[in-house]
Amino acid sequence: MLHRPSDLFVYESDALTLLRGRPCAVVFPETTDEVSAVVRLCNEYELPFVPRGAGTGLSGGATPVEGCVIVECSRMTRILEVDATNRCATVQPGVINAHLSEFVAPLGLHYAPDPSSESACTIGGNVAENSGGPHTLKYGTTSPHVLALEIVLPEGSVVHLGRGDGHHLGYDLRGVFVGSEGTLGIVTAATVRLVPIPERIEAVLASFPALVPACEAVSAIIAEGIVPAALEMMDDRTIAAVEASVYAAGYPRDAKAVLLIELDGTPEAVEDECVAVERICRAHSAIEVRRARDAEERQAFWRGRKGAFGAMGRLAPDLYVHDAVVPRTRLPEVVDRITRVAEGYGLRVANVFHAGDGNLHPNLSFDQRDPEMLSRVRRLGEEILRICIEAGGVLSGEHGIGLEKRDYMRLLFGEEDLEPMRWVHDTFDPEDRCNPGKAIPSPRACTESNPRHRGAAVVRF
Ligand SMILES: Cc1cc2nc3c(=O)[nH]c(=O)nc-3n(C[C@H](O)[C@H](O)[C@H](O)COP(=O)(O)OP(=O)(O)OC[C@H]3O[C@@H](n4cnc5c(N)ncnc54)[C@H](O)[C@@H]3O)c2cc1C
Repeated sequence: MLHRPSDLFVYESDALTLLRGRPCAVVFPETTDEVSAVVRLCNEYELPFVPRGAGTGLSGGATPVEGCVIVECSRMTRILEVDATNRCATVQPGVINAHLSEFVAPLGLHYAPDPSSESACTIGGNVAENSGGPHTLKYGTTSPHVLALEIVLPEGSVVHLGRGDGHHLGYDLRGVFVGSEGTLGIVTAATVRLVPIPERIEAVLASFPALVPACEAVSAIIAEGIVPAALEMMDDRTIAAVEASVYAAGYPRDAKAVLLIELDGTPEAVEDECVAVERICRAHSAIEVRRARDAEERQAFWRGRKGAFGAMGRLAPDLYVHDAVVPRTRLPEVVDRITRVAEGYGLRVANVFHAGDGNLHPNLSFDQRDPEMLSRVRRLGEEILRICIEAGGVLSGEHGIGLEKRDYMRLLFGEEDLEPMRWVHDTFDPEDRCNPGKAIPSPRACTESNPRHRGAAVVRF
């Protein structure tokens, strides 16, 4: 257990460093029984607690509620069972996403959801956030890959939701739990689907003289009936940051946008789709269309994309990785509008997006020691959300609501929509002890002075 202020310092935030809170202690259980014992003690002493995996979350989901106990699951790293015949595995929540795929690769299998943070984030965090990733376009987010969960409920008892064979009976409480952002209990084991490693994988890198034709190429690829495994876009600022970093991938530095398109499946189908994708990109003014020569070059293409946020970390002391979704066809105008609005705030945006899903990540580099700059970042962040919602989009594609966007839920939902979400919450956690104050805004009449919400984390925007 950690309790000294100097030790607690690193737990003040997750990867969204804009928001901070102070826990009173951090504990590191290794078994379900230990999680249950900690939760029961928190109840006895009326302490809020916050589940935490690797702390790579980008919406403040694991930001400490003032005075809480952090239940850090990163030492629960055992792969409990692999069932190759039925293509599933049961793991503890602290297993790192990429480690699971590495572990089952000799069986010709992998775990499909692959957030760009896959080398650090945990399966427990992925379940809580219903995480996406570059391959969401073809394989879906985390939820369809979760068959069953073992949960420690907020009062300390252990329950099992879902079934390993996928035949859920009654209400789908497994589905309710996935994406609940650590507010309904703590995952202590997850049974997840494994899928075969595709027979053939090809990656195509297409560079464009502007973002608009690149976005149009994305819509044209989908309109042709092709569903690439991944369809990712990076703009010129992202390309420059990546190419100046250890993640340099050989992206053309003079391009205004690059598309990274991965196709997988049977050799014949992949070949046909590659030819079609290359044709479509050229028809949309691509400057260069390049197929990865071999697996090594394909991995280099991905290293650049997956390292893009890390590469931007070199540009300024702080990085705000934003996350919102718009209909794919509205991407060009929305990106253009965000760029212009950002210029009005004197801020520069670097765009990386899961273009196939319309999932934008406008990234703002800044220095939070400058309060005036911090205020501009906060206001621009809100404006980006408003622009995306006006265009028919939603608040988050994959990073969740957490603390960051909790109060923006009202941009999309009325009280009549939020109230059933509160019923679900209160059924699991009537004392509001498990990660309180996250994801769902309190009823308007309910202030932070309400004793049931005393633990609500401080928003230090
Ligand atoms: C460089 C970078 C790239 C990223 N790329 C992506 C991406 O492509 N797609 C994507 O979706 N996200 C991405 N993320 C965000 C983040 O990695 C994911 O949200 C991830 O699922 C968080 O996992 P974690 O283990 O770090 O969880 P944490 O950050 O520790 O926690 C996240 C949430 O899960 C809850 N939680 C954690 N463990 C448990 C548990 N055992 N039981 C119940 N609740 C729990 C916490 O309370 C919190 O609400 C990225 C982040 C970074 C820094």
